[in-house]
Amino acid sequence: MRKIYLDHSATSPVRPEVAQVMWQFLTEKFGNPSSLHSFGREAKENLENARNQVANAINSQANEIIFTSGGTEADNMAILGVAGRYADKGRHIITSAIEHHAVLHTCQNLEKQGFKVTYLPVDEYGIISMDDLQKALTPETILITIMHANNEVGSIQPIAQVGALARERAIIFHTDAVQSLGKLPIDVQKMNIDLLSASGHKIYGPKGVGFLYARKGVRLSSLVYGGAQERKHRAGTENMPGIMGLGKAVELVMGEMATEMPREAKLRDDLIKGLQERITHVKLNGHPTQRLAGNVNLSYEYVEGESILLALDMAGIAASSGSACTSGSIDPSHVLLAMGLSHEVAHGSVRMTLGRDNTEEDIQYVLEVLPPIVERFRKMSPLGQ
Ligand code: PLP
Repeated sequence: MRKIYLDHSATSPVRPEVAQVMWQFLTEKFGNPSSLHSFGREAKENLENARNQVANAINSQANEIIFTSGGTEADNMAILGVAGRYADKGRHIITSAIEHHAVLHTCQNLEKQGFKVTYLPVDEYGIISMDDLQKALTPETILITIMHANNEVGSIQPIAQVGALARERAIIFHTDAVQSLGKLPIDVQKMNIDLLSASGHKIYGPKGVGFLYARKGVRLSSLVYGGAQERKHRAGTENMPGIMGLGKAVELVMGEMATEMPREAKLRDDLIKGLQERITHVKLNGHPTQRLAGNVNLSYEYVEGESILLALDMAGIAASSGSACTSGSIDPSHVLLAMGLSHEVAHGSVRMTLGRDNTEEDIQYVLEVLPPIVERFRKMSPLGQ
């Protein structure tokens, strides 16, 4: 059976070039970067090369990159790290209602410890308002954490404007760039970003590795205690195969961003238009243009998104409803609800996220397969007839 992967925002396949680099660091180049002998020195040199590859992608200094176990840890490190070090300056944090749970649950946990958190609302397209942000600022605000691009609907936030405002007020600005690295240009200097989280497995790198960029001068309390690795920010022997794979993946994804993103955006638009032409009562979730190149999130009214997913899976097409982390839960997506969708319409949402392996033929196949699926379910539903 033909198999089409349309869930690149959940995870992406590791590139052969990346796997090759990782294999070397699992086998002959197994040294510990903390060792003083030649094996250790070689590992240390490679570790610093990977750090440079990552720093180049976001215009930071290499010594501002801290390798982590992924996006979740980087988000935790940023938020808990700032809360731990700056609580004496204030105990107020501003975020948005549509952040990934790695940010939301961390903030909710801080609320239990006496911090105040403002969850900014979003408009119908999933975008925050700068006006709301301005109004939410208080003399107690120590951190603004707003994601660059949303994992479910692909909406892109005005992070350069957020960064400018935060810098003007001397408030630390963190952005979760897990979904945007390699897809949107990022310049931490120009965008006034103090902290930025990213992950390897969304950019054709390995799972379980990511990084936090922390601007020089921003102090963070540690999550993990032990050795002096990562400038004492993250103790523990470095995940060399993962880090080397991440470095390579970042370099490759940056090198093709200028050609690959317009290609994916064309496929995305063909898919959205094609489905809207073939199926009635379809709603595009997210902004029509201010969205990630590969993101297609549509609600099919009178049908359950989960039913569509299962039928697509049987036809060899892998998609998702809401974010991968919330699938399996019966609650509708917090992102779609924050955008004002009713529970019914939110339940009818299906996300397809494109990647570098997808082609025009894949889109045509989805356009053949999906409309009859929706039609069949609607015939069975009392509301859809
Ligand atoms: N932040 C966003 C926006 C994400 O989409 C994800 C993964 O889905 C994460 C954080 C978590 O990253 P990781 O899977 O590397 O922990």
